[in-house]
Amino acid sequence: MHRTRGERLMEYSIGVDIGGTKIAMAIVDQNGKVFYKNTYPTPNTTNLETMKLLNENVLNLIDIANQESMHLVSVGIGSAGQVDYENGKILSGTVNIKDWNNVDIRGFLSQTTKLPIYVDNDANTFVIAEHQLGGGKNVNDIISITLGTGIGGGVVTGGKVLRGAWGGAAELGHLTVKFDGPKCNCGSIGCIETYASGSGIANRMRERLQNVTSEKFSYYKEHPEKLTSKEVFEWYEHDFSEAKEVINLAITALAYGVVNVIHTFNPSTIIFGGGLAESNRWFITEVQKKVKEIGLSSLVKDVEIKVSELGYDAGLIGAAYQVWADK
Ligand SMILES: [Zn+2]
Repeated sequence: MHRTRGERLMEYSIGVDIGGTKIAMAIVDQNGKVFYKNTYPTPNTTNLETMKLLNENVLNLIDIANQESMHLVSVGIGSAGQVDYENGKILSGTVNIKDWNNVDIRGFLSQTTKLPIYVDNDANTFVIAEHQLGGGKNVNDIISITLGTGIGGGVVTGGKVLRGAWGGAAELGHLTVKFDGPKCNCGSIGCIETYASGSGIANRMRERLQNVTSEKFSYYKEHPEKLTSKEVFEWYEHDFSEAKEVINLAITALAYGVVNVIHTFNPSTIIFGGGLAESNRWFITEVQKKVKEIGLSSLVKDVEIKVSELGYDAGLIGAAYQVWADK
């Protein structure tokens, strides 16, 4: 048996992070250490196929835990989309995951694993990890913003994850910062996601490329679907003026979004995560500068704005950690 220093029996939990392109799974201990991590492409067929993949690989991890005498206490799942966390169900997924609506994950997995099953939105599992183990440890009022293809939000207020009436709170990517702005996937207009997410940055760049004559960009004018935010950030570094416009717009949109959130929740820490923040830390520094310029001084001046210390596994660790965060 694995014991912690004080001879307390170390507990382990299986974490599952379900995203649009991949599903990551691992065994996680109470210190947030990750064991036997594996990733799988997210099935592009039916929810039955996705559940089969989850079930097989979770059972496999349970076998490993048994062989290694790891004391497993739960399976925790974080998924993109809207989640009824009390009942352990996916209500409506994102367009990125096929057939991911009305899926009773807890009902399915509790039968086969005989373990308690926790299910939450992946932005909430991210803020849980940061609150329990990361940059928000010992902090009671935290906002997390994950920048990837879309933008996810999590709020810890008074030490508790903010849920709202049924668990749908903190859709921070869909705060409108321009009411005559671009149309968003959510049905609204001018959301920060349309400016500052990976897809938003690429979309704003595509609009501008239509008016650019330089042959340097002819490949992306002909193949606009190949353009990602990565190219836009590279062009920014090379002083390409349209790319500078797009990135500066993203910084401004995000800063106004963050200021709205600070004015609403009075947090002491804001933690950014997701691929876009991890690989462009200077971008977050610029957002921070802008926030301090435009927000109510009393509220913004002492807010710490930083990038996740837990890195790419934060969502996975938080998924596993739900059982301990719940206590
Ligand atoms: Zn939106």
